[in-house]
Amino acid sequence: MKDDKKMGQINHHLTDQLLIGYAAGTLPEAFGLVVATHVSLCDECRARLGGFEAVGGCLMDECADSAVGSDALQATLALIARGPQEPVKLPRNGADTVFPAPLRDYAGSDLSAINWRRLGGGVRHARLATSDAATVRLLHIPAGTRLPDHGHRGNEMTLVLQGAFRDETVRFARGDIEIADQNMHHTPVAEQGEACICLAATDAPLKFSGLIQRIAQPFLRI
Ligand code: ZN
Ligand code: ZN
Repeated sequence: MKDDKKMGQINHHLTDQLLIGYAAGTLPEAFGLVVATHVSLCDECRARLGGFEAVGGCLMDECADSAVGSDALQATLALIARGPQEPVKLPRNGADTVFPAPLRDYAGSDLSAINWRRLGGGVRHARLATSDAATVRLLHIPAGTRLPDHGHRGNEMTLVLQGAFRDETVRFARGDIEIADQNMHHTPVAEQGEACICLAATDAPLKFSGLIQRIAQPFLRI
């Protein structure tokens, strides 16, 4: 399909719910950062976000005024059909760096300057400073390594920045988002080749199956 080509390599996108939450400013900072970073890499989600922002802006101003009526609605629909007028404030990312622009405010631009901490099994992480409603961290998973088997007490969003991982049969590469919730138990495995670097946000601690991870968890704050 030619549409796949237009979208580049990204196969796994944000939900409407997340884009609307981001447009409305209601997501915790940690999730907002993952959304902004994906949107900077993804034309499709940037266009969808532009539509939601147009509708949101319209609801805030004149469209809420019933006197304006159907003209305003028509105008809004036309606006959405044309796509975002003023591109969303997020800069388009050059594909040349591992950290897209929105992430650089939190992580800097230099991958080699990240202060990694061990998470066990060769996996390393670096927590980024955000408000406490949710946490976000960089993960460094050596090629061929599996993350500890775990479930979730809340929501987890994982965005691939470098390399790729597989979760069962599904592959996630740069720009792809995996969304997990309480019903999902998984063991993502980094592909052979280069290390997989991800940006992952959670709003509740994970549930590890392994005893070692469970003991270490309070110290790792994951
Ligand atoms: Zn997308
Ligand atoms: Zn998970």
